[in-house]
Amino acid sequence: QTFKELGVIEELCEACDTLGYKTPTPIQAQCIPVALQGRDLIGLAETGSGKTAAFTIPILQSLMENPQPFHSLILAPTRELAQQIAQTVEALGATINVRCTLLIGGMDMVPQAIALGKKPHVIVATPGRLLDHAQNTKGFSLRNLKQMVLDEADRLLDLDFGPILTSILQMLPPRRTYLFSATMSSKVESLQRASLSNPVKVSV
Ligand code: AMP
Repeated sequence: QTFKELGVIEELCEACDTLGYKTPTPIQAQCIPVALQGRDLIGLAETGSGKTAAFTIPILQSLMENPQPFHSLILAPTRELAQQIAQTVEALGATINVRCTLLIGGMDMVPQAIALGKKPHVIVATPGRLLDHAQNTKGFSLRNLKQMVLDEADRLLDLDFGPILTSILQMLPPRRTYLFSATMSSKVESLQRASLSNPVKVSV
C-alpha cells in the first residue's frame, strides 16, 4: 500500500518520500483515510507506531484546502514531545509553505507572541502555555480553529492538564478532533466525550 492509495495528495507523498517513509505504518493506513473523510478519530497507539505522521498528514492536507491562520492546533503533554511534533509538521509541510509555531512553557512569552503575530497555520503547544496565550496575547484567537489533535491524551490527564483542557475546549468552535492515547481509561473516555463527536476508533 502507498500513501497515494490512502488519498494523500502528491505534495505530501513527496514529503513522505523525502523523509524515508516508503510505506504507511499500520496506524497511518487506518487513520489517514478516516481523517481525510472528515471524521473525528480516536487512535490507540504507542510512540514509535508512526502516530505523529498519522495525524499530521491529514491535518496538512485539510489545511491546503483552506490555508487560514490558526487553522490547526496540536496539544501535547510535554515540551519535548511538542518540539518533536513541530519538527514533523515542518518536515512534512516543507513543500506546501506551512507556517507552524511552537508554544511551550519555560520559554519567554514575547517571542512566542511575535510568532503568533505572523499568523501561523498550525500551532503545536503544551496546554498551559496555549491557554496563557489564548487569554493574554492580542490578535490571537482560537475562534476560527478547524481541527485539533490531543496527543498522548492519557499523559495529558496524568499530568493534571484536565482543568486546563476544559478551559481550552470552552474557547473552541465546532471542529474536527483527533485524540491519540496509548491507553484508554475512564478519564480519557470522559475527555473523549467532551471533545469528540461521533468518532471512529482505530487501534493497532
Ligand atoms: P512516532 O510514533 O510518530 O513517534 O514515529 C516514530 C518514528 O517513525 C519517527 O522517527 C518517524 O520519523 C518514523 N516514521 C513515521 N512514519 C513512518 C513510515 N511510514 N515509514 C518509516 N518511518 C516512519
